[in-house]
Amino acid sequence: MKNRITELFNIEYPLIQAGMIWCSGWELASAVSNSGGLGIIGSGSMYPEILEEHVVKCKNATDRPFAVNLPMLYPDIDKHIETIIKHKVPIVFTSAGNPKTWTAHLKEHGITIVHVVSSVKFALKAQEAGVDAVVAEGFEAGGHNGRDETTTMCLIPMVKEQLSIPLIAAGGIGTGRGMLAAMNLGADGVQIGSRFVATPESSAHQNFKQVVVDAKEGDTLLTLKELTPVRLVKNEFFNKVEAAYQSGASADKLKEILGRGRAKKGMFEGDLVEGELEIGQISGLIHEIKPASEVVKEIITEFRQALAEQQTDKYRF
Ligand code: NDP
Ligand code: NDP
Repeated sequence: MKNRITELFNIEYPLIQAGMIWCSGWELASAVSNSGGLGIIGSGSMYPEILEEHVVKCKNATDRPFAVNLPMLYPDIDKHIETIIKHKVPIVFTSAGNPKTWTAHLKEHGITIVHVVSSVKFALKAQEAGVDAVVAEGFEAGGHNGRDETTTMCLIPMVKEQLSIPLIAAGGIGTGRGMLAAMNLGADGVQIGSRFVATPESSAHQNFKQVVVDAKEGDTLLTLKELTPVRLVKNEFFNKVEAAYQSGASADKLKEILGRGRAKKGMFEGDLVEGELEIGQISGLIHEIKPASEVVKEIITEFRQALAEQQTDKYRF
């Protein structure tokens, strides 16, 4: 497979594993890169020395390109950027912030920059800031999410209509058919998160991986729009937040209920009652924990089968 995304990143398949706090460390990123996709270390949950350790381990585990996801609201971002430059990480995916802030600096060091957005407006802003590609993430996605609730089905063609640089679709994609659908809508590649949480290489807690496998349609919802909108599994913590809404809680009260470190508690420490469990709607289609290499292989095989089907009578009207 050769297109604008495989050429930009120098990878085999236009399939990118999303950077996910507490879930995507060096083991997952290197496994995906070794399988022909692009693996991403999610640095938002890592103290600076932890990120450095993960970058070094990732470089030792793969000769192929990999990336670091840099949420721009991360408190020690300067230190993360130093590590990225020092260890010559080839690709950075920035998110949750203004792409103008760091793009020029990182590009001066020869780094390929991709920015994650959830709207047409921000996609164009990222293009203007000089990024090399954009990830447009729809409402189906897990974890932190846009406020406008635009679904991947609508977001991708709308961004495509106006964007000229390569476009990566995210949100609700976890299979080869999903990948093909996103590319039919105009994307040059896909970014997949939830499916890679349920792998042995993901650093998520086993309890959380099991929640992902057990999740059914309707088990997640977007909440906390007044703070940072986030899609969560409807567990007891989620219900506590909902009860607060019912009683008309203020943003400050919601902040107090959220407290600190909820994501770590849920996804890394496996506290399914009190923790935040961030996962996408596509979790309803994930039924098994399997190695990242098998996930990549299955997605690409199904993509090719579905593509072949498009040449058949089913699609001739
Ligand atoms: P690693 O290189 O994977 O871990 C090194 C350090 O990074 C550790 O301090 C670990 O946390 C931290 N770390 C790992 N993944 C993440 C992440 N996604 N976000 C933030 N910090 C992270 O080597 P280890 O030998 O420590 O771990 C072996 C395997 O076990 C790895 O897959 C690792 O991710 C996983 N692991 C799982 C844990 C869990 O589920 N509770 C805890 C630790 C590791 P810390 O310092 O808190 O241990
Ligand atoms: P909280 O404020 O609730 O907690 C901060 C968590 O981040 C703690 O668990 C802490 O680990 C860990 N951490 C890692 N490095 C640092 C650091 N330098 N300073 C302070 N804490 C650090 O935040 P969340 O858990 O809700 O979010 C964690 C991170 O996720 C954010 O810092 C941000 O980078 C990222 N994020 C990304 C978004 C995106 O990409 N769209 C959106 C929102 C957040 P410990 O408990 O071990 O101290």
